[in-house]
Amino acid sequence: MNITSIACPGHEQVIRVEDSLSALTGFIAIHSTRLGPAAGGLRMRPYDTEDAALEDVLRLSRGMTFKNAAADLPLGGGKAVIIGDARAKTRAQLVAFARAIDGLRGRYWTAEDMGVDPGDMAVMASVTPYVAGLPDGAFSTGDPSPVTARGIFHAIRTTARYRFGSPLLEGRHVAVQGLGQVGWHLSKLLRAAGARLTVADIDAERAEWAGQSFGAVVVAPDRILAVEADILAPCAIGAVLNAQTIPALRVQAVAGGANNQLAAEADGAALHARGILYAPDYVANAGGIINIATEILKIRDRRRFVSDRLTALDATLETIFKHAAERDVGPDRVADEIVAAKMQGAEAA
Ligand code: NAD
Repeated sequence: MNITSIACPGHEQVIRVEDSLSALTGFIAIHSTRLGPAAGGLRMRPYDTEDAALEDVLRLSRGMTFKNAAADLPLGGGKAVIIGDARAKTRAQLVAFARAIDGLRGRYWTAEDMGVDPGDMAVMASVTPYVAGLPDGAFSTGDPSPVTARGIFHAIRTTARYRFGSPLLEGRHVAVQGLGQVGWHLSKLLRAAGARLTVADIDAERAEWAGQSFGAVVVAPDRILAVEADILAPCAIGAVLNAQTIPALRVQAVAGGANNQLAAEADGAALHARGILYAPDYVANAGGIINIATEILKIRDRRRFVSDRLTALDATLETIFKHAAERDVGPDRVADEIVAAKMQGAEAA
């Protein structure tokens, strides 16, 4: 196995992992360990180029620093990616990648992300202890997406309270982009709360199935971002809020689960200028890592920890909205400032 360090300004450590025997190429990025060991999932995707994979892991690991800090977890930010089709992944690749993680000696903890499931985590845990989201064993938490969806549901209610004066979702129209692990669980919660749903997924069968399961209107993937609704919940890919899509949005608020929804910093200001209330993604979708944290931190009373942290996260979102309204700036800017202050506090301490 070949491990190469890559100098990336702003990141503490980035390595490229190559194992010719298992045809594995991937990256591990540790953005910050200032608040604790870096934690963030492993994603497997057929990136077009190595540069695209590196760019993704750098953005996502930085996002994990923000997410973990916003959730008040004693964890830093890290992320890992493997380049390849997740449907063709092999045990040998997972074992080789786990050896690379083990070599970081606990500076980085991994868990599931897109293309990786609890079974894959179990394979990796046979090589290294720095794996969470395991299907069984002491402190195991399995698939984080139901708790992620729970956190997003809370965030949508809080967003509704700020935007419409009531957290109740009965009759509210929510457009959900992406019906994977997170979008599916979220749609179920929204439906149970009486929301009206319009949904889309590039997997047409899945979209149809969601339409039937949740009484949702199904639209083509290229139409979901322009659907007229109360709230848009992006739950698929990143960078969906950008210079092309923002002018076409016909919603009053955006609150969803996808990571890195804003393509650029200016897009937060563009949403604010349009009067669209944006729940910062790393606050709205921190439920999953809160759940995973109970495994890393070996928390005995997981239910209580998760509930308390989700409640605190909601309070943080309220504070963000309040300060943003007072200062007439986008909530994303306030959220970034809150995290920056926490990081500085940790450094001073
Ligand atoms: P997933 O792979 O299970 O689901 C993604 C879904 O989006 C798939 O059904 C896919 O077909 C669909 N999709 C992809 N591109 C699309 C497009 N252009 N239009 C419509 N649908 C599209 O992934 P997931 O675990 O549900 O995660 C969804 C998002 O939430 C990702 O951005 C992920 O990083 C983020 N997230 C997930 C978790 C978690 O606990 N799983 C936690 C935090 C953040």
